[in-house]
Amino acid sequence: MANEPLFDDLYREVILDHSRNPRNVGTMTAPDRTAEGLNPVCGDAVRLDLALDSDQICGLMFDGQGCAISQASASLLTERLHGATLGEARGVCQAMRAMLVEGADPDAVLGDLEALHGVAKFPVRVKCAMLAWKLLEGVLEQPTPSGAKA
Ligand code: ZN
Repeated sequence: MANEPLFDDLYREVILDHSRNPRNVGTMTAPDRTAEGLNPVCGDAVRLDLALDSDQICGLMFDGQGCAISQASASLLTERLHGATLGEARGVCQAMRAMLVEGADPDAVLGDLEALHGVAKFPVRVKCAMLAWKLLEGVLEQPTPSGAKA
């Protein structure tokens, strides 16, 4: 089934929309936390910048280049987690990993991110979709900035 479409039309529309018109693109001059990474298999690159107010994500931007799935996933990440607490972000990260890596059904906490569910069937593309999330997982492990409440 070489010509089998990757996604059904609804999901493809969300992914195409975010890859063509990515949200929250750019870099911060003084992010509280930042991470960047590559997916060499596909040539995707993503940088993620966070601004924190105590344990709440009050700003979230990404910059990068690569395939539609990697960029759409990063764009969806910034949209879903803007305003979330670090604890909520960890929960969404876990739900993404469960859906894409462990083959679980999408959790309601994912919202529009469910659009990436079809990617789970394509291990090579899972690396694309998970790139921004792996960066976020790393960022969430970083110690709380000095001065902020732990
Ligand atoms: Zn890719």
